[in-house]
Amino acid sequence: MAVRLVMMGAPGAGKGTQAERVAREHGVPRVSTGDILREAVQAGSPLGKAAKAVMASGALVGDDVVIGIVRDRLARPDAAKGFVLDGFPRTVVQAEALDESLDHAAPLVVVDIEVPTEVLVSRLSSRRICSSCGWLATSGATVCEKCGGKLVQRPDDTADVIRERLRVYERDTQPLVEFYRRRETFRAVDGDQTPEGVARDIAAAIASVLGAKR
Ligand SMILES: [Zn+2]
Repeated sequence: MAVRLVMMGAPGAGKGTQAERVAREHGVPRVSTGDILREAVQAGSPLGKAAKAVMASGALVGDDVVIGIVRDRLARPDAAKGFVLDGFPRTVVQAEALDESLDHAAPLVVVDIEVPTEVLVSRLSSRRICSSCGWLATSGATVCEKCGGKLVQRPDDTADVIRERLRVYERDTQPLVEFYRRRETFRAVDGDQTPEGVARDIAAAIASVLGAKR
């Protein structure tokens, strides 16, 4: 059966890594709206130009644009077997548009990776970036793996800024989580464990949804 997955999680929850992993294991594309927008801006496509203008003004790209991007992407042949959505939907309007664009060949699995706020703060504030080449270091590193440069804390990674970013994420995402939580295909996964442990729980969550629907 096709795997159609929405991966949710706060900054620092490991959402991108886990999304990549599930996509690879199931042979389906990981669809990240952030990546698609960045590529479109770089390629200078009409969509990219529109998105660039919006982002330059400091605003978020609107629901219509994002929904259009995702619909186009999911219509491509490689997504026929399924997909892993990373960073979409972000709003209930986007989630409803996603429901409308899908047939009923397979359920839409929603996984929320849950991590206590203080664990996220500690994870995010331990991130270091290379002062020479900008490489984002893995935790525990003392010098840059790429160039040997000095690692520094990112200016936007102080505990106060991180707490504020997480608070905004929580506030903005709450309605979406409530929207999905009522469904039988929603699964919360404990993200306060090793990446391997999280991956195992996600695999079990997906299997339990697909098994129940068979
Ligand atoms: Zn470096």
